[in-house]
Amino acid sequence: METTSTYDKASGEFIVHSPTDLSQKYWISNGFHHANMAVVFAQTIVNGKNEGVNPFLVPTRDSNHELMPGVQNRDMGVKIGVNGVDNAILRFTNVRIPRNNMLTKYAEVDATGTYQSELAKPSQRFFAVTERLLSGRICIAGLCIGATRGCLYVAIKYAKQRMSIGPEGLSTVPIMNYQLQQNAIMPLMARMFALNVYYNFVRQAFKEQTLGWEIPSLCSSIKTMMSWNAERTATTTRERCGGMGFLSSSRFAEYLAVAHTGLTAEGDNRVLMHKITKDLILAVTKKGYVLPKPKLNVKAQIGTMDDVSSLELISDLFRFRVETLLAKLGAKTAELKKQGKSPYEVNMMGTSNLIQDLAMAYGERRMIDSCLDFLGGLDSAQDRKVMECVFRVAAIDCVKRDLSFYISEKAIKPQAGANLLIAQ
Ligand SMILES: Cc1cc2nc3c(=O)[nH]c(=O)nc-3n(C[C@H](O)[C@H](O)[C@H](O)COP(=O)(O)OP(=O)(O)OC[C@H]3O[C@@H](n4cnc5c(N)ncnc54)[C@H](O)[C@@H]3O)c2cc1C
Repeated sequence: METTSTYDKASGEFIVHSPTDLSQKYWISNGFHHANMAVVFAQTIVNGKNEGVNPFLVPTRDSNHELMPGVQNRDMGVKIGVNGVDNAILRFTNVRIPRNNMLTKYAEVDATGTYQSELAKPSQRFFAVTERLLSGRICIAGLCIGATRGCLYVAIKYAKQRMSIGPEGLSTVPIMNYQLQQNAIMPLMARMFALNVYYNFVRQAFKEQTLGWEIPSLCSSIKTMMSWNAERTATTTRERCGGMGFLSSSRFAEYLAVAHTGLTAEGDNRVLMHKITKDLILAVTKKGYVLPKPKLNVKAQIGTMDDVSSLELISDLFRFRVETLLAKLGAKTAELKKQGKSPYEVNMMGTSNLIQDLAMAYGERRMIDSCLDFLGGLDSAQDRKVMECVFRVAAIDCVKRDLSFYISEKAIKPQAGANLLIAQ
């Protein structure tokens, strides 16, 4: 981050400046037409010392909506969708703002020009201020639920009306009755419901702030999982509506664009997955966090069963996957370090797949445990039966994707794996 905010003791002002083309702020939502204020993150220079990144409130337009002196903004350009949201490129050339425009939750500069913060390291302050993005990640997940539901609604409604070949050779059967159509659409819908329950759990945890180190991981995990599911749903449902799905009026293109917004905005999904795993390792190795254990002995008990399709067993399998991947990542890291690789090489060049898989395993373990809690809170036996079936479809879909892992780890025997495919 190159934009600076330099404290000028004489005037009691900060001077916000973007020194290079690359230091411009890209993609700023609402920044071109609508906003008249921006929260700008900038390297904070006080008495010649860089105190790290802090946030500042910078007026970008005056009361007549004219640009403020030193503020340049441009439209990002035509996007692949969501063009109703305006996105700007913002640049600041020696823009002066009062000292009080520094947002001071974690640090401040007093009238004498002294920088103060209870957080000792600039990196700690950076992570503290970027926690403001957490609520945004929950909002993105919510946005993606809407897009996913929209796709499913259009696709299922269409599939129930579109008649195709029936047993007598005439167009008498709605395509929704076909196994192929159901197998494509239903797991996506089931995952959407399971993720919705997980989303409600994350929102509550964020509101109550009771889960400590896990809060950022939960917010990132729900954002990544929900946006990937929205993207997969938009692509699949578009295809499942045939030519009609290709019409703009079917809205799949817009839903797909919303999903892609979700993949990238408020932090790229893959980068967030990396952070989830990093925080999990830190919690286990430095903060005394104990991973939730499977209730059964997975290899000795679940590994000998023919039917592993119950939610309780799958919850155990997910816990097993988290602890096994964590152990594998530890072993691979140790092996690469022994070969003389630097921590950077280990992280960025040697263990990426394990890091990504572990973050997803963490999220799916949380998702299924939220679903089990949700079922426990339902009064009606009928509701419980229906929702349990939905969650099982979602859970089995995850196990199917990772079946080679479970079989090679002897957590599921091959016959039980084959039975699972039928069970779904
Ligand atoms: C619709 C929309 C609205 C936005 N609104 C705002 C806004 O209001 N304010 C704002 O400040 N920003 C906003 N953004 C910007 C957004 O936060 C960034 O685009 C996002 O964080 C990704 O950064 P990037 O574009 O630099 O992508 P890059 O970091 O260049 O990512 C490109 C690819 O490289 C990969 N990659 C990058 N780094 C790593 C790594 N360390 N390890 C592995 N892979 C990596 C990524 O996975 C990705 O696939 C918005 C973006 C969009 C699309």
